[in-house]
Amino acid sequence: MSENQIHQRCPLCLQTADSVLRMPDRIYGKRYAILRCRSCRTSFTDPFPSEDELNRIYSGEYWAKETTLGKKGRLGRAVTKFNLVRMALLIRPLLKTLPPGASVLEVGCGSGHLAAYIKRCGFEVEITDISRDILEEVRAVHNISGYCGNLEEIEFEHQYDAIVFNNVLEHLRSPNRAISTAAKLLKPDGRIFVEVPNIDSYQFKLLGARWYHLAIPQHLYHFSPESLDRIMSTNAMNKIWASTYSPRTSAAGYAASLIPSLQPAKLRQAWSTPKLLIYLILQIAALPLVCAESLMKRGATIRCIYQKKSE
Ligand SMILES: [Zn+2]
Repeated sequence: MSENQIHQRCPLCLQTADSVLRMPDRIYGKRYAILRCRSCRTSFTDPFPSEDELNRIYSGEYWAKETTLGKKGRLGRAVTKFNLVRMALLIRPLLKTLPPGASVLEVGCGSGHLAAYIKRCGFEVEITDISRDILEEVRAVHNISGYCGNLEEIEFEHQYDAIVFNNVLEHLRSPNRAISTAAKLLKPDGRIFVEVPNIDSYQFKLLGARWYHLAIPQHLYHFSPESLDRIMSTNAMNKIWASTYSPRTSAAGYAASLIPSLQPAKLRQAWSTPKLLIYLILQIAALPLVCAESLMKRGATIRCIYQKKSE
């Protein structure tokens, strides 16, 4: 088994980091710290879990099983539709900036629903994932082809008009390397869409270690708008659109933090109609709070579009 990677310094810029929070993870109860770099202000999990630990987590029922909701009767189908609408709202700001038929790459495709929606909107879509099983499932269900592996290890055949990182960057050991690779894969003026949890949010301030979107130990990095902008500008990407609201994850953050048994992965594994209804009601109840924090630019999610600088 490989050793956990313990940080003496920031893994991105090698400067000194301070402890923000100490907490156990939700899966094994092992102690982790969240540290924040004094220089680049990026927060990260310490130690990073070993590859074996992460593989065990990801090889479980982590993704893809949303497709089983359709088999859970009328409520299951309604939830699937609700999720698809949220997915559409999530990516609409990017799609509005692209010409018809533009090529889009989604990195870490999860259930494949987002890529399928982009395809239905008339764009050329390809995907990447580290799991061959997920790629095969997405190909079978949505007829979308993909590449297996980490972005920087894949040999791509062409460049893209846009690259999507939907709640992916925080899982990577080197987000900087991934963005650097993505920037090279873009056509001139190409765009990168990113959604990640926002550690500078009021939700994190309010909920601390209970905050669902910390997702220790899977989330290796915890971005603020400032630290994300820094990685992007280092790679010659200019921010052209930003929001701290996500139709998919902002309100869900409150519901899943307050009642951990309502977390989406748990609901997917053990279907319970009353729990699902409570989950939806809590999200609706949280909406005024979510709107207010987003208006103050301190919402739970960073959702941005960056454009490649002209050479
Ligand atoms: Zn740093």
